[in-house]
Amino acid sequence: MKCDPTLYRAAPPSLAVKPRLIRHLFLPPLIILLMLALGLLGFWTSEHYGIRSLGENGQRQLELHARAVESEISKYTYLPSLLELESSVSQLLAEPSPEHRQAVNNYLEGLNRRSRSRAIYVMDTTGRVLATSNWRDVDSYLGEDLSFRAYFQNAVRGQPGRFYGIGSTNGEPGYYLAHGLEEQGKIIGVAVVKVRLEALEERWQRARLEAFVSDENGIIILSSDPARRLKAVRPLSDDTKERLARSLQYYWFPLNELEPLARERLAEGVEKLTFPANAEVVSDDEAISYLSQTRPLSDTPWNFTLLTPLQDLRREAINQGILVAVAFALVAFLLIAWNERRKVIATRLAAREALQEANNQLERRITERTSDLRASNERLKSQIRERRLAEGTLRRAQDELVQAGKLAAIGQMSTSIAHELNQPLAALRTLSGNTVRFLERGQLDTASANLKTINELIDRMGRITASLRSFARRGDDKGQASLGKAVDAALQLLGARLENSGLQLHRAFTDEQVSIDQTRLEQILVNLIGNALDAMQAQAAPQLWLEGEAVDGKYRLHVRDNGHGIDAEARKHLFEPFFTTKPGEQGLGLGLTLSASLAAATGGSLGVEHPASGGTAFVLSLPLVSPLPVEPI
Ligand code: ADP
Repeated sequence: MKCDPTLYRAAPPSLAVKPRLIRHLFLPPLIILLMLALGLLGFWTSEHYGIRSLGENGQRQLELHARAVESEISKYTYLPSLLELESSVSQLLAEPSPEHRQAVNNYLEGLNRRSRSRAIYVMDTTGRVLATSNWRDVDSYLGEDLSFRAYFQNAVRGQPGRFYGIGSTNGEPGYYLAHGLEEQGKIIGVAVVKVRLEALEERWQRARLEAFVSDENGIIILSSDPARRLKAVRPLSDDTKERLARSLQYYWFPLNELEPLARERLAEGVEKLTFPANAEVVSDDEAISYLSQTRPLSDTPWNFTLLTPLQDLRREAINQGILVAVAFALVAFLLIAWNERRKVIATRLAAREALQEANNQLERRITERTSDLRASNERLKSQIRERRLAEGTLRRAQDELVQAGKLAAIGQMSTSIAHELNQPLAALRTLSGNTVRFLERGQLDTASANLKTINELIDRMGRITASLRSFARRGDDKGQASLGKAVDAALQLLGARLENSGLQLHRAFTDEQVSIDQTRLEQILVNLIGNALDAMQAQAAPQLWLEGEAVDGKYRLHVRDNGHGIDAEARKHLFEPFFTTKPGEQGLGLGLTLSASLAAATGGSLGVEHPASGGTAFVLSLPLVSPLPVEPI
């Protein structure tokens, strides 16, 4: 089965290659770009949501720890005001005698021990310390003038004094809570409690919490990381720096700024801060980012800041980004693979469809051709039927023609036959008359001789009529004939003409048995020899050759004369019915036609040759009954 090759014709190479080349060139960088972009997006998204979740968590932590700081501070707020109730303190302030001082010193010492504060002391309105819990210590505050301290200044004015500072005597940091001691609406002194808040720092450190508290000046007063302590969270102006230095609030510590590498404000009180991991090495690689959440502490001007490291989050975000990029690469790879597979399947389907289409076309063509063939078969059958009919008609016409030819020949021969018969009849009449007279005279011998002659004449007349009858009889296609007998019969039929012609006959054939009806063979030979005689009428020495030879199972008899021959124009029409060159009623033009058709009907043929020596030779070829050679006659 062959398919239409046009169905599989490939696209022109230039058109097929170009988009593929473009795809191959641009697809990998595009995928890499998209991978990077999606990776970054994944990183940012993860970081963003991570920060948000950390922020929410941090907010809770912030609240918790800020409350802890507040409660730690508020624990002591009531303490200075308690001293207002103590009569010994009032007495000391009214009359600062050594007895009163000692009484208050002892009282404060006991109170300080119980309240676990750092120190409790009482000042007069000038800022001098009149009594203190640490009166026994060498670096006791006793007698010190602390009027420069802001907490004193506030308290003496009747405002609560809240102050974080570093002790001017021992450089120890502490939280100072001051309260103006009133008597009859008048401030007579100031009570101060110094609290150490380091416990908070230790608690943060234990909890691995990064947090700090910054005071109203923005100075970190408490920090889980000692390195950040006493650093300014915001830039300080030179004036402020000078003022703070003068106040000795932070002793002589340099108030450096806490300088993050990067600061990004995310919301109110929420910042992203990046610090160098190691204070000495300032490099991006070792930087640590924090989520900084700040909340003011109630009852103080301070702020509590919680630092949540973003390291893990960053690592997580990087992992997420890588995961997204890898997932995208995987999806892209799967899509490409799927697309390639889809293309392969589509190509296969197209090929299958093309094949199916080719098959369908082929089947359609086969069906068309089959119906064509069937139609032409039908046509052939009807033609065969028509041919058979025509053949039958032809055969009948041929028979009619043969019969007509015979009748024509009879007509032709009737003159010579009449002549043939008239002669013996006239002789018979004379002989019979003579015989009667010889019998009357008694000349019996002469009469008997005459009667013998009469018998011979009657025999001859009988032979003439017998051959005429056999010629006129219808023959059939089958049968067997003796060539020698047929030649003799034909010569006998033409006897009268032969006698007058002075013909010289040459016989050079064998008496073969040929497949043809005897009468028909005689009829053919009468025609051929008759025509030869006609052609040789003007010939002074007419000669007729009857020569035979066996070739390929057939016997070929050459009937050759030395007559006038046949001109070129007549040669073309020789075997056409009713073609004749003979004048008047002498020729019907049926002889050769009939002879040829009779020969053909038995599987033989009749042809003509024109010998160079002149004359004409007709070649009658007939199938041999027995192809074995027979002795020449
Ligand atoms: P007819 O004898 O009635 O003319 P034929 O068919 O027998 O019809 O012959 C056709 C013609 O062929 C003749 O008229 C004659 O011209 C030519 N012909 C036939 N035989 C010979 C021959 N042996 N020599 C020359 N001409 C011949």
